[in-house]
Order: sequence, then structure tokens, then C-alpha cells
Amino acid sequence: MEEKIWLSSPHMGGTEQKYVQEAFDSNWVAPLGPNVTGFENDLVHFLGNNVQVAALSSGTAALHLGLILLGVKAGDEVICQSMTFSASANPIVYLGATPIFVDSELDTWNICPIALEEAIQDRIAKGKKPKAIIPVHLYGMPAKMDEILAIANRYEIPVLEDSAEALGSSYKGQKCGTFGTMAALSFNGNKIITTSGGGALVTKSSALKDKTIFLATQARDAAPHYQHSEIGYNYRLSNIAAGIGRGQMEVLEHHVALRRKWNQRYQDFFKAISSVIVFKEPTADFISNHWLTAILLNSFEEREALRLKFESQNIETRPLWKPMHLQPVFASYPYYGRSVAADLFEKGLCLPSGSNLSDNQWKRIILVLEDFFKKQKENA
Ligand SMILES: *Cc1c(COP(=O)(O)O)cnc(C)c1O
Repeated sequence: MEEKIWLSSPHMGGTEQKYVQEAFDSNWVAPLGPNVTGFENDLVHFLGNNVQVAALSSGTAALHLGLILLGVKAGDEVICQSMTFSASANPIVYLGATPIFVDSELDTWNICPIALEEAIQDRIAKGKKPKAIIPVHLYGMPAKMDEILAIANRYEIPVLEDSAEALGSSYKGQKCGTFGTMAALSFNGNKIITTSGGGALVTKSSALKDKTIFLATQARDAAPHYQHSEIGYNYRLSNIAAGIGRGQMEVLEHHVALRRKWNQRYQDFFKAISSVIVFKEPTADFISNHWLTAILLNSFEEREALRLKFESQNIETRPLWKPMHLQPVFASYPYYGRSVAADLFEKGLCLPSGSNLSDNQWKRIILVLEDFFKKQKENA
């Protein structure tokens, strides 16, 4: 069996160990230290727009603290894009709040502005105004932030942007992760950059950043003894992990360029196969980091056949995220929209997209695709 080709695997730039070594040399082996501060500064510099960044132990922790800072409490309702990874929705339930799931639209596969407004109006009519909206930039594709923010502003509901997959993406020249009242980033092992595990909450004020760090470090009041007036969390990023992050920030733009290159090559390949749609930017307003390249096939059966063919060659592919309103654990919560997300899930497949794919691995991928689509190509 040939070596495994992963969908997306960690890709070190080379300087990560230097920062980790510095942490050891200075004995900053703790959830604070110069790498944490340095990594936060790198992210602030990259994102621009006067944001403030608090480095945390995961993207999920960032979403959890974001909801707390927005005042979400037990019994509240929070609107969440249905087509996403479960970590977008889980923190709503941690707080005893109710997720209200909303369908996607076809241009970006992200939250549909029309269904979003329907959901808000109906929840208000039923007696509860949602406390927050969580749009997601799926696979790095920016959501339609102009329309989403216009609706959010009209109903005065804050936006918590799930930018876990979209570091390096932008919409109308503005970086993803800087649109919402707050935004969550993730540095898990398979994301565009990794700290092995980690995340960050992006805010617009130093007061909110300070409050995030206060909650993330057990909510300790200013006193010589340990005194607490609020419930705290142990959510800060370690100085070791942040060292990896500092090295990764040096190669972020390069890695985005590589993922975009693979996306372009997939687009070139599928030009001759009219039955397959490669997920790409709908207009020049959108720039995706193309964290993962996804395609839409004709049917569930064809998608499964291609997935199994890749699997037989030891190549990992993955169906799109199964929408949250179709997940057993979330099935009882309200859902607004039609069947866009469900249809995408049926027919969609994510293809290997790592910035560290080798030319030889690329050849193996193309061989599988050529073989699978041979007949269609001959008929074209
Ligand atoms: C990865 C991911 C998260 C969670 O981030 P972790 O760092 O793994 O906790 C949240 N939302 C989306 C859309 C993700 O892809």
C-alpha cells in the first residue's frame, strides 16, 4: 500500500522549534509567556482593522467565551449556520441556550441571508429575540457578510463570526475574522495553520480582550488570596503551543497560496467534466484561503463511489459537514430554510488540499480522478 495522503495535515515552516526551544530555555512552560504575547501580536498585525486577539486553548473555547461575553445565558436563543462542524453549535448548548439552525445559500454554502431574516422574524414573533448570530466561513469561503451584518444591525443582534476555517480569507478586501462583534479562530491540527491545538477570540476592544483572558484564566479577582466573583475557565493557550503558532505565522501567506494553487489545479482538471462543480468564489469580492477544496457530484451514489475509490488508494477524502439540523444530537432544535445544506451534504466531497501535498501525491490524486471520470471525459 502506498503512503497515506491526508485531506489536510500539519505543515511546519521550519522556525517553530526555535520558538519552542526559547520557551524551554527561559522556562516559560506555562499557559502564558512571550510566545503567547508574540503570537497574539502576529495575529493582530495580520488581521489589521484594530482588532484585539486573546489566544486560547481551542476554537471551541473561543466560541464558548464569545457567547458568554455577548451575555448568552440559559434559556436564550442563538442563531447558528446549520452547515458547519459541530463545534460551532456545541458552546450554545454548554450555556443551556437553544441553537436555532439556518440553511445555507448556493453561492458560498454559508448562512442564507433570506432564511436568516425569516428565522429572526419568526423567533421574535414567538416571543424571543435571538441573542447572537453565528455565521461560518465554510472551507475558507467568506459568508455574505454585507447582507448578514445589515440584517444583524437592523435587528440589533451581535454577530459572533466562526472564522475557524478562514484565516487568510477576505471579503471585499477585509480579512475574515474582523467582521463580527467578535470572531473565533482555530489552530487545530488540520487547519490552515496549527499550534497542535489552539484557538483565539478576536475582539474590537482591549477591555473585551482583558475580560476574555480573565475568564480564560479562572476569573481570579485582584486579591492576594484566590478570590472569585464569577465562574472561570481554564482556556488560555500554552506558551509552548504559541511558539509553534509564531513559526506558523511566518508561513501563513505562503500556505494560503499553496492551497489556492491546488484549488486552481482541481478547477483546471474538472473543466472538461461538466457534471462536476468545483466550489469556488462566486465573484471577485470573495477570496477564499481554500482550506479544503470541495466538489459537488451528481448524486449521493456517485459521491460515495468516488470516496471509496480514493479510500482504496489510501487517499483520504471526506463528505461535506453534515448539517447540524440533521444530526441526532441537534434534531429537536428549530430549523429555518429549505434543503440547500442537505443537498450539498448528499453530493459534496472534500478533496486532499494540504499545503504540504507533494507533486507525486498530486499525481496519485489525478490518476484516481482520471480513471473515475474516464467515460465522461471520452464522451465530452
Ligand atoms: C475546527 C472548527 C472549530 C473548532 O475549533 P477547535 O480549535 O477544533 O476547537 C469551530 N468551527 C469550525 C467551523 C471549525 O472548522
